[in-house]
Amino acid sequence: MSRVALVTGGSRGIGAAISKKLKADGYTVAATYAGNDEAAAAFTDETGIKTYKWNVADYDSSKDGIAQVEADLGPIEVVVANAGITRDAPFHKMTPEQWHQVIDTNLTGVFNTIHPIWPGMRERKFGRIVVISSINGQKGQFAQVNYAATKAGDLGIVKSLAQEGARANITANAICPGYIGTDMVMAVPEKVRESIIAQIPAGRLGEPEEIARAVSFLVADDAGFINGSTISANGAQFFV
Ligand code: NDP
Repeated sequence: MSRVALVTGGSRGIGAAISKKLKADGYTVAATYAGNDEAAAAFTDETGIKTYKWNVADYDSSKDGIAQVEADLGPIEVVVANAGITRDAPFHKMTPEQWHQVIDTNLTGVFNTIHPIWPGMRERKFGRIVVISSINGQKGQFAQVNYAATKAGDLGIVKSLAQEGARANITANAICPGYIGTDMVMAVPEKVRESIIAQIPAGRLGEPEEIARAVSFLVADDAGFINGSTISANGAQFFV
């Protein structure tokens, strides 16, 4: 029986590439999304991967959604907490609403995604957790106090979970992508995007598939000693 993998925000962008790669690797994949029904339906048509709609910022919705996935497909043994948003503004203009939206989705959303799955992983003595953080959680970024705080928080989550889960053969690792050519990055003004690319030694944006490759590596059955680590995938833009 193939292992079941849950990818939040798995219907678009980086998440969609992760879902497809895990399916190609032999996992049974469930991809979640927040509200873009059209994109989710197109994704399922294209890939045959089942999609589920819930808001990762809401604990009860996450718990119920996860229970539904497990009822449909079986116990979740691989989880990729990928769903994320930006609400950029320089700090002096950032509103409490922008702060809370990003914290609730990107940080609390990671808790809400992993927490209901964790007891089952402990019981079965197997689990693979990957959290999609960001280069901007490593180095900070102008106009992203909220986003950088959540992505730095992701690193604290995986390092702590790694220590709690290690004896039960549960690993938790983070990937810090640099700038990847998804809707999130294509939404920034072209001039800003050009200035971003100018700072990347590779001279280009990354591809979602290049992040999926790292996920595939980390969730493998024989990756059990790689635990609490952070993989940077940023075209040599930043080194920790
Ligand atoms: P996209 O905006 O392309 O896709 C985001 C996905 O997350 C969509 O499936 C969306 O659903 C889902 N989503 C958003 N909010 C919620 C929510 N509250 N509940 C459930 N699902 C939600 O993002 P990217 O692919 O660019 O980014 C994916 C991850 O990678 C994010 O965590 C991001 O911070 C991180 N990252 C991205 C980088 C980049 O350059 N693109 C760089 C570094 C990190 P729907 O389709 O319904 O909107």
